[in-house]
Amino acid sequence: MKKFSVVIAGGGSTFTPGIVLMLLANRDRFPLRALKFYDNDGARQETIAEACKIILREQAPDIDFSYTTDPKTAFSDVDFVMAHIRVGKYPMREKDEKIPLRHGVVGQETCGPGGIAYGMRSIGGVLELVDYMQQYSPNAWMLNYSNPAAIVAEATRRLRPQAKILNICDMPIGIEGRMAQIVGLPDRKAMRVRYYGLNHFGWWTSIEDQNGNDLMPKLREYVAKNGYVPPAKDEHTEASWNDTFAKAKDVQALDPDTMPNTYLKYYLFPDYVVAHSNPERTRANEVMDHREKQVFSACRAIIEAGKSSAGELEIDEHASYIVDLATAIAFNTQARMLLIVPNNGAIHNFDADAMVEIPCLVGKNGPEPLTVGDIPHFQKGLMSQQVAVEKLVVDAWEQHSYQKLWQALTLSKTVPSASVAKAILDDLVEANRDYWPELH
Ligand code: NAD
Repeated sequence: MKKFSVVIAGGGSTFTPGIVLMLLANRDRFPLRALKFYDNDGARQETIAEACKIILREQAPDIDFSYTTDPKTAFSDVDFVMAHIRVGKYPMREKDEKIPLRHGVVGQETCGPGGIAYGMRSIGGVLELVDYMQQYSPNAWMLNYSNPAAIVAEATRRLRPQAKILNICDMPIGIEGRMAQIVGLPDRKAMRVRYYGLNHFGWWTSIEDQNGNDLMPKLREYVAKNGYVPPAKDEHTEASWNDTFAKAKDVQALDPDTMPNTYLKYYLFPDYVVAHSNPERTRANEVMDHREKQVFSACRAIIEAGKSSAGELEIDEHASYIVDLATAIAFNTQARMLLIVPNNGAIHNFDADAMVEIPCLVGKNGPEPLTVGDIPHFQKGLMSQQVAVEKLVVDAWEQHSYQKLWQALTLSKTVPSASVAKAILDDLVEANRDYWPELH
């Protein structure tokens, strides 16, 4: 069986150790010959990498492991780039969340003004990775799950049309895992779904088991009462996520024929979200206080002891969708997956050049989207507005246009008026001086 060389871009990410453990657990179907980490923050990456080096030495000494901040070393001789960068890291995420909240508007990582600000930072970072890949390993594929995926996907479609990049998101996968629990199936792969929308902005229209039995009636009844909070309580789910899963019941009430992506709550119930946010302490603070501290202290403990048992690092099992995607390309499996791809008529009554999230068959030449057909006015109206926001952000980045970014913020369903949009934008410009192109 062929063995692959992979570079993880954003090697210093809190998700990297979990991904490494997941790759190790899936070696039988996706064998590795080399694994590299690449990050532009050498110190942050070193801690994660030195701990992973010990894990790899224990479990798979045959895999050639290295880490670097040098693009040429990182991107040469690779088959896959797995990209999860966060341009500006958590301190900028904190600003994305807190600045809109100061103006009474949703403050969220990928939705509304926070997502727009993050998009303006991410575009340049992800395009840079694409360029390194094209320069040093032109036959490689990039599997990108850096956020905000919708804006990043629009930017790569428009600005790097030839790039072999697949944009993917784990949120539908997480929700489908809950759906499987609700209907009593062992896992989400026992279901066959139809779904359409934009990233963090979509709906399931059909969910069946492998025999074609319709699971929607059971899900509908359950979700209308409990949202996506599964029957057996999951101790690992944090309170803020639990609220989001529970709120899905109100989102679902707007169109009981479908099952919604949880992120729709930010667009459909922004007043509720703002009322339940603490402007002094947002999700970024929770992540910095818990997840980031936990991962880095576990890595330090492993490095100090020289053995993996000294620190608790969790395998990110649900991230095995990344291996599903890599094997689909590597072995032409024609696996069916939800990907963010150009619409090109798949949704019949929607813009051909919109980046939509829909089921695709994936093989060695990339994704082959399945037809969706016509979508109803409610979804179409919401999606048209949101896709315009995403396109305006890329316009703004490309043209260095303050005007376009003001239009993007004004058009976001989370923002009540053009004057509020302008006030938020002026604060965001100030906060993002080191990251955004200079707007005029
Ligand atoms: P993190 O801050 O812990 O890690 C991100 C790393 O990227 C940092 O080490 C940082 O130094 C590095 N980085 C930033 N800019 C870079 C650049 N231009 N080049 C190279 N490296 C750069 O963040 P995290 O919480 O682990 O999240 C990482 C990313 O993964 C985020 O974009 C997050 O939204 C995304 N994510 C996506 C999914 C999904 O399925 N779509 C799931 C979870 C996280």
